[in-house]
Amino acid sequence: MMNSRIPLMAGNWKMNLKLDEAVALTNAIGEHSRELKDIEVMVAPPFTSLHAVQKAAAGKRILLAGQNMHWEPSGAFTGEISPRMLVEAGCTHVILGHSERRSLFGETSDIVDQKARAADLMGLIPIVCIGETLDDREAGKTFEVIRTQLEGSLRHFREDERLPFSTILAYEPVWAIGTGRTATPEQAQEVHRFIRDWLETAFNSGTANLIRILYGGSVKPDNVRDLMDQSDIDGTLVGGASLKAETFIPIMRFQDPVT
Ligand code: PEP
Repeated sequence: MMNSRIPLMAGNWKMNLKLDEAVALTNAIGEHSRELKDIEVMVAPPFTSLHAVQKAAAGKRILLAGQNMHWEPSGAFTGEISPRMLVEAGCTHVILGHSERRSLFGETSDIVDQKARAADLMGLIPIVCIGETLDDREAGKTFEVIRTQLEGSLRHFREDERLPFSTILAYEPVWAIGTGRTATPEQAQEVHRFIRDWLETAFNSGTANLIRILYGGSVKPDNVRDLMDQSDIDGTLVGGASLKAETFIPIMRFQDPVT
């Protein structure tokens, strides 16, 4: 059965690119994103580049995401950024619970849950990241870990018995992030299917059918097509390969005929 989920190709720039490089990359992406009809393109620049990137992206069908945020609207939280600040900077989306936030900055699923709720209240679409480590996978615990992360990170939505259809999930196996080691399309599909089945049980089949689930972990121009061919992979969250026009543009144009 065909689904109505529009592919989303997103670049997570992490703590990379100087301001002029960020603007140049946005301009390069913008030359191609305008022509892409049924594909959404998104970039998540560092906070300090958001304003300049927003200006460069204007009118070019490039969505903007924050890489993280605090859950409070304002206050004495030195070094933090609020949901409203992201909206003011032009963001429509925010990445939450990236594995680097979880492993390097102690972010738990409880915190991700609080942030996801705050994003939704502010009209920001959360991109909630989940993924198992190599140890988890080798111990045969992949599905258990994914289920626990889903239950914890979407707790408020489950209590409300409503997950906004715009919510995005990103499956990023930690062992595949920045390692050059991609999950095979079949390995990724298996977990994406598991996540969609979980959505059906936790919410309902309409939600499960509409929520987009991105894959992330060493996505490159030469593996993107096989990943996107999987029925439950609705887009990609790209780190390293999103930092250069030569690699990100072919990824966002994955549907182009191979020449
Ligand atoms: C990421 O950090 O979201 C990611 C998938 O990184 P990379 O593409 O570099 O593996």
